[in-house]
Amino acid sequence: MSLNAESTAFRSALEVIRAVEPRVADAIGAELADQRESLKLIASENYASPATLLAMGNWFSDKYAEGTVGRRFYAGCQNVDTVEALAAEHARELFGAAHAYVQPHSGIDANLVAFWAILADRVESPALKKAQVRQVNDLTEADWFALRRELGNQRMLGMSLDAGGHLTHGFRPNISGKMFDQRSYGTDPATGLIDYDRVAEAAREFKPLILVAGYSAYPRKVNFRIMREIADSVGATFMVDMAHFAGLVAGKVFTGDFDPVPHAHIVTTTTHKSLRGPRGGMVLCGPELADQVDRGCPMVLGGPLPHVMGAKAVALAEARRPDFADYAQRIVDNAQALAEGLVRRGTKLVTGGTDNHLVLLDVSGYGLTGRQAEQALLDSGIVTNRNAVPQDPNGAWYTSGIRIGTPALTTRGLGVAEMDATAELIHTVLSQTQAGSNPDGTPSKAKYVLDPALADKISKQATELLTGFPLYPAVDLG
Ligand SMILES: *Cc1c(COP(=O)(O)O)cnc(C)c1O
Repeated sequence: MSLNAESTAFRSALEVIRAVEPRVADAIGAELADQRESLKLIASENYASPATLLAMGNWFSDKYAEGTVGRRFYAGCQNVDTVEALAAEHARELFGAAHAYVQPHSGIDANLVAFWAILADRVESPALKKAQVRQVNDLTEADWFALRRELGNQRMLGMSLDAGGHLTHGFRPNISGKMFDQRSYGTDPATGLIDYDRVAEAAREFKPLILVAGYSAYPRKVNFRIMREIADSVGATFMVDMAHFAGLVAGKVFTGDFDPVPHAHIVTTTTHKSLRGPRGGMVLCGPELADQVDRGCPMVLGGPLPHVMGAKAVALAEARRPDFADYAQRIVDNAQALAEGLVRRGTKLVTGGTDNHLVLLDVSGYGLTGRQAEQALLDSGIVTNRNAVPQDPNGAWYTSGIRIGTPALTTRGLGVAEMDATAELIHTVLSQTQAGSNPDGTPSKAKYVLDPALADKISKQATELLTGFPLYPAVDLG
């Protein structure tokens, strides 16, 4: 019997790797086995197609290609030009953007490119203007001093971390928190929703250079038309980081006021979350910022990853096919079914539900911290991550929340019936887990008690739930 192309490709690749370092080949095989068996509810993860994965394992990885298409600092980049131009074209067509820059290695890198582009565009500095015309070597000591002073203390207004914002939107563990004087907007304590009047008020008081929208843990749509109006009212550049929900924009689930591309000056994203491409980032913008954005490498990025740009072109071509719109709609249908299933069983959800791909559980009602819940679920074969909820009393490390998302399970083909079964498994684990205590008898925020037999039983049920939905069905590693 002859093997199909996907099995042959991956088996052969592993055989070649095994001849050099068998432990790496074994780990790759084990990773597939683990992913096949676990109920993956990590909202930021997905499963890229075999074509996308295979596009990354080749000699494009060997090539240096600093610069942009047709303007490289290295010779022999004609084939890199081909794949970079293709990826950019697919991105422009898919999202309706005037310009796409597909080099960023990750979402964080895409944000750095955007921040620099905005600073270079907006900050009126003679020294900066000189630097931008590539006369960096002509800058005097005084120029550098002036430049540093002018760039520091620029103001950024973004969503607060505990309301679902991201570290790269001006928070201290990320360089953006050191580059910018940051203030954040939260959500309404009663509804959990963004209160646009409060955002407008904060913008009027703070007068940010950059207004950022976008999130990693907000389960609702954002009205980007209103956010743009707020930015315009204070002369701010409006940036949207759609890292999490790019797939819903690509699949036309988020349209009109909820599609960031026509409203923002600049949009950044990852390519590996709901968009289902290779691990990487991307920037979209209008013609005004295009030149600055294209200076991303070497301004803030290392040499581009041509193998990943090739994979981006493959994944973006997939996202332009009609079945991707169907996929995006099923992601949201599944998230809503999961939310309803949890609410029906008494779980408290931030905002009471969802209109995107993610659901944020407040597990305090089960008497647990996010950390205890995350571990108990993991023991039971359910992979999630803990996440702060608004005004979280347990802080960012232990938290009171669990974030779950449906892009990965939807890729496997699970539907609303399986989401109700998933809600039942989650509720059973959480309601059967008790908070533990420290040796001195004080309550612990990390320890928990869960009957191993129950964890085992739920694990088996989770695996059973997945049996009708094989992951990479055409890949048989033998
Ligand atoms: C995931 C995420 C990022 C970072 O992406 P990486 O590829 O991990 O660097 C940036 N912004 C938001 C909103 C995200 O959710």
